[in-house]
Amino acid sequence: MVSHVKPDGDTLGAGLALGLALKKLGKRVWYFNQDPVPRNLRFLPDAGLVSRQLPADLAPDALFVFCDMSDAARAGEFLPPVARENVLDVDHHLGNALFGKLNYVIETECSTGAVVMRLLRALGVAIDSDVATCVLATVMTDTGGFMHSNTTPEALDLAAELMRYGADKEQITEEIFLRKRVAATKLLGEIVERMRFEHANRYCYSYVDDAMLARTGADGEDTEDTVNVLRGQEGVEVSALFKAIDGEIRVSLRSNGRVNVQAAAKRLGGGGHFRAAGLTYDGTLQEAFAAVEAALVAEGL
Ligand code: 5GP
Ligand code: MN
Repeated sequence: MVSHVKPDGDTLGAGLALGLALKKLGKRVWYFNQDPVPRNLRFLPDAGLVSRQLPADLAPDALFVFCDMSDAARAGEFLPPVARENVLDVDHHLGNALFGKLNYVIETECSTGAVVMRLLRALGVAIDSDVATCVLATVMTDTGGFMHSNTTPEALDLAAELMRYGADKEQITEEIFLRKRVAATKLLGEIVERMRFEHANRYCYSYVDDAMLARTGADGEDTEDTVNVLRGQEGVEVSALFKAIDGEIRVSLRSNGRVNVQAAAKRLGGGGHFRAAGLTYDGTLQEAFAAVEAALVAEGL
């Protein structure tokens, strides 16, 4: 099970759910991620088995299931090359490159975990509470706790079904959404201090850099939902958070649904969804500000 760099609850939860189920069917399963599992996702069943190590005795016909990524490069540079023949691409992003031999991509699903649920139903495998918790974590992560526009009746039906299978919604709420490190809250304060508003306040952006992390004792993980705070400011339609950390600039974009931030991100080599997208920018922070704003303007900001 391969998840994308800087993993979130969907890419990890989808792979863990599928892995847990496949083990019940007698398969051997490994979970690959090049980065550590974020603190707030370590409670997920099997999360402790995720690593950047692949077994030495991997069979030549081993199946690599890429979860929640629109192109294979999102797995990062530590995954050895995998032949297309061996790839199953399971995803829900717009514009998935269909890079697998098998591609199971359903853009209307709220999460990749919801796509995995279809596979589990087709396999006829019993859904236990561990699998259900992993899938519910994907749904709650990608709907922003049932707040985003992908919170369809189908997503809520699925969530209800998962709770009946024993998914631990309380734990997901507490671990993923509520609990914050004090350092994270202090960092949020610094980011909020630096908010800038452009385009008659329709665009709000801010940034975080290494110095801010050092001052507050926070790290990159602690920036997770800050971009949503920016988007939530009165009158704001589009927000961006620029993360200049460890010599790299990662940009998170959010939209209220008028401007397509996936299209804007794609102009700069990134991707995502209509209302949530991201990219990596090669250059200075000032250049990144200008390039992202130009891409957003080109998409109608
Ligand atoms: P986030 O801002 O939470 O990191 O990402 C928002 C959405 O955009 C997620 O669906 C994520 O998978 C996607 N995304 C973020 N960064 C990139 C990127 O560099 N390339 C692509 N293709 N998608 C990205
Ligand atoms: Mn997703």
